[in-house]
Formats: sequence, structure tokens, C-alpha cells
Amino acid sequence: DLRRRLHLRRRDEFGELAATFDQMLARLEAAFKRQNQFAADASHELRTPLTIINLEINQALTQSTQLQTPENYRETLERIQAENEQMTTIVNSLLLLARADTGQFTLHKEEVDLSDIALASVERLLPLAQQHQISLATGELPELLIEGDAQHLSRMLMNLVENAIKYTSGVGKHVCVELTAEKSWGIIRIQDDGPGIADNHLPYLFDRFYRVDKARTRRQGEAQPESAQPGGTGLGLSIAQWIAHSHGGEIYVQSTIGAGSLFEVRLPLIETKVPSPGAERHCI
Ligand code: ADP
Repeated sequence: DLRRRLHLRRRDEFGELAATFDQMLARLEAAFKRQNQFAADASHELRTPLTIINLEINQALTQSTQLQTPENYRETLERIQAENEQMTTIVNSLLLLARADTGQFTLHKEEVDLSDIALASVERLLPLAQQHQISLATGELPELLIEGDAQHLSRMLMNLVENAIKYTSGVGKHVCVELTAEKSWGIIRIQDDGPGIADNHLPYLFDRFYRVDKARTRRQGEAQPESAQPGGTGLGLSIAQWIAHSHGGEIYVQSTIGAGSLFEVRLPLIETKVPSPGAERHCI
């Protein structure tokens, strides 16, 4: 009887071991697939600007010099420069995410006031808002102290506010940045009254290279005109999410088609705060 019991126990243990092994293999396989997809997406994103640069150079070299004015050459160079800048942005973002994946990054943490970061980001993006004819404003910006890397936090905020402006083109439209506190959390809200994002895209929005327009086009199998995507890399939100997570925080999005989007970042405060009376009054 004892032997039978032992035998059974051993079978159970083998069974458990095999199941654990299966799970580990499945996780490894999924990780490999993600890495492969990431490499494929990265190559694709870099190939587009490279192709454009090649075409521009070929055209400039093969066209008869009599047809080309110095002004034409200058315009060609400017287009090449823009593509070059796009590639630099992609490569820098990829490097940052790769370092984040392998833990090879150092956060230079210090006491940071979120209202300073929010105000500075809004000021830096005012010209972009003007260019898009958007009103960019701030709501309540109370002093909220957190332990954080000012440069990274500012990058996160810039990515979110820049998106809100970029995707909310139109006279009379608004983007608003505000801060509130909820117990031990500091909350940054970036709200716009732009086109909004459909529910089916929301679960993937923070995935690397995910872009709403591109996804729609892929599914419908149409050709995508370059101009339909406002110069995005699809990496901005992944980076913003990584920065929020690396500060012990979280990032959320709420969006309604036709009504706009609300991105919310929650970060742990150094000291618990009593919510300000105007906390529930949103700025749009
Ligand atoms: P991108 O470089 O394309 O802006 P992001 O990762 O920053 O990449 O954003 C992913 C996608 O999420 C964007 O391509 C856009 O479709 C959508 N998106 C982000 N922010 C907004 C917003 N405020 N309003 C509408 N769509 C947005």
C-alpha cells in the first residue's frame, strides 16, 4: 500500500514537473515570438525612411543638372534631413526600450515636483499647439512631490501631451493638463476633446509600434498614404508606460470616439496628500 502511495506521489510530482516545464517552454516561446515581432517591426519602421532617402538621392543624382536649381537641391536635402531625424527618433526610442528590457538603465532619482514638470512640458509644447490651432492649457497644478527621474518624467509627459496635440487637430479644440492627489498617489491627467480612440484599439495602445491608423489599414488591406500618419513611431506610449512603471506607477487611458481621450498617470507620492477641493473638476 505504501509503495502504491509512493508511486502515486512520484507520478504526481513527475506530472507537476512536466506541467511546469510545459508552462516554461510556452513562456519562452511567447518571449521569442515577441522579440522576433519587435525586430521585424523595428526593421520595417527603419526601412521606410531609408527607402525615401534612397529615392531622393537617386532622383537628385540622375536628373539632369540643367533641370535642377539650387533651390531644388535644398528641398531634397531638407526632405532627407526630415527622414534622418525620424530614423534618429526611432533608434533612440528602440535603444531606450532595449535597455529597459534588460534592466541596463539608471534612474537618477531625486525629489521632483510634478507641477514643475507639467508646467515645463506645456510651455515647451505651446508652439506645437499653436501650429495645430489647439488651445493648450493647464488646470489645477498643486505641488506634488515624488521620488523620480526628472528627465524621464518630463519625457513621459511630453509624449502624452504631444500625442494629445497631434491627434486633436482643429480650431476650437482643447488639450488640458492637470494634477490631483488621491491619498498616496499623485495623478497627472492629460485630456483632449479630439477624435477619441475606438474600444477595440485600447488594449493594444501601449504595445510597441501600435498605431491606430496603421492597424485599421492593415485589417482592411488598403494601401496607406504616408500623410495619413502624422509622423508617429508607435513607440511613444510604450516609453511613457515604461517610465510610469519604473517609478512604481501606472498609466491608463479612457476614450470615447468623437468625444476625446483622457490619459492618466498615477505615481506614488513622497507624502500622503489630502485631495484639493477642485480635484474632481476636470479642465475640459
Ligand atoms: P505615435 O508615435 O504613433 O504617436 P504612440 O505610441 O505615442 O505612437 O501612440 C500610439 C497610437 O495611439 C497613435 O498612433 C494614435 O493612433 C493613438 N493615440 C495616442 N494618443 C492619442 C490621442 N490623444 N488621441 C487619439 N489617438 C491617440
